[in-house]
Amino acid sequence: MTSTDLPTATAVPDHLDDVAAALAAWQPTARHHLEELVRIPSISAQPDHADEVRRSAEQVVEVLRAAGLEHVRLLELDGAHPYVTGEWCHAGDDAPTVLLYAHHDVQPVGTPDRWGSAPFEPTERDGRLYGRGTADDKAGILAHASAIRAWLDARGALPVNVRVVIEGEEEIGSPNLHRFLATYGDQLTSDVIVLTDLVNWKLGWPGLTYALRGMADATVTVRTLDQPVHSGMWGGAVPDALTAMSRLLTTLHDDDGAIAVPGFADDVRPMPRQERDRLEALDTDPEQLRAEVRMRDQVRFIGDPDRSLLERLWMQPTITPTGMDVPPVAQASNTLLSEVTTKLSCRLAPGQDPDRAMTTLRDHLRGAAPWGVEVEVELGERNRAWMMEPGGPAWDAAVTALTAAYGREPAALGCGGSIPFVGPFSDAFGGAPCLLWGIEDPASNAHGEDESLHLDDFVRASLGEALLLAEVADRADDLRG
Ligand SMILES: [Zn+2]
Repeated sequence: MTSTDLPTATAVPDHLDDVAAALAAWQPTARHHLEELVRIPSISAQPDHADEVRRSAEQVVEVLRAAGLEHVRLLELDGAHPYVTGEWCHAGDDAPTVLLYAHHDVQPVGTPDRWGSAPFEPTERDGRLYGRGTADDKAGILAHASAIRAWLDARGALPVNVRVVIEGEEEIGSPNLHRFLATYGDQLTSDVIVLTDLVNWKLGWPGLTYALRGMADATVTVRTLDQPVHSGMWGGAVPDALTAMSRLLTTLHDDDGAIAVPGFADDVRPMPRQERDRLEALDTDPEQLRAEVRMRDQVRFIGDPDRSLLERLWMQPTITPTGMDVPPVAQASNTLLSEVTTKLSCRLAPGQDPDRAMTTLRDHLRGAAPWGVEVEVELGERNRAWMMEPGGPAWDAAVTALTAAYGREPAALGCGGSIPFVGPFSDAFGGAPCLLWGIEDPASNAHGEDESLHLDDFVRASLGEALLLAEVADRADDLRG
């Protein structure tokens, strides 16, 4: 067995050659398990697919057993899609414990016609495996399994204790996470958390994500009248709710499209010069970003022009209307609307206190109401952003492991999205460092049609994780310190 069976550019240290070789040797089995998982339409957002999510959990049990984990089982909560856990905890009390996270549920398929092959029939084309869940996040499960199996095959033991948790409802925002943590958190206590659910910077260029934005929402209702009235008789003197709502919404942003709510962003963490330089060095061609997101030709980017696009996407908050209750155009009549309701969805930046931000927004909306119209604001769920300083023993372990696996240093990345699991689990384990990486690349199109996994990068990610376990073990004292 030689390293030629691994993708090019890997630079495994000599003393871990046997682990890398075992990982390469297990890849056909990993691929088989991945394809079996992808064939199960575990769409957590569709209640009629609950049985499929359960079937997928049962299949994950098979995968974790094949990896060599012990005590593999479904963890159930009433009304929640099943989680799966397993562990291997024979490295001794002095060895660190690593919690490996992924999720086995998937997004709906979107428009089936836009897929180049059936979404739940894994199909290889040009070095990529197409299918819903190939990248997000079923390959994440197999990366964990591959790393564990490699050590057990090569050495008969792991260098650290490992616990694995595979969630079944990440794609619907983990609605039962806090209940899960309260019920099972004790069984998962760890020194380091690893999530294989993030995006790499480029194909063949790994990423390590150190910040996730938080999320919050508000429901805003504007009322001008007790009931709709004739627009011909009353229009011109009596305000309608849709015009009032429109004026209210325009107060949320300035002419650049940057947030204009006074105080809303006051506690956003100021970005150190060094970090700003780092993001600017990463900043891609705006034209390429436009193409990736498919912006229409004349449309410009929004936000504070003094901040880079990546800073706006990762480290600044947003306030976005995502729905409005108004009559559809086909049913519009000549009346002044009496009441209009809008949903505002916010992404919160590192540093922001969600309660403070959202009460600031609520007070602004009430105060900005035109013409004395009634404004009611109901605040919904809110979760703070998560961030760790890119550094420290766990981070260094990950940089070393990824650099060896990909042959190039990982990029330190932010992420505009939110992963509910990260903050609460890190907090529950005394601020345990979280290593956020993954097997997606920008072409993976997670959540979209034709989702795919780059097969070589998948092996590199799995290898990176196997190497990480050694790097974490080597830093046991620093981690505890
Ligand atoms: Zn995911």
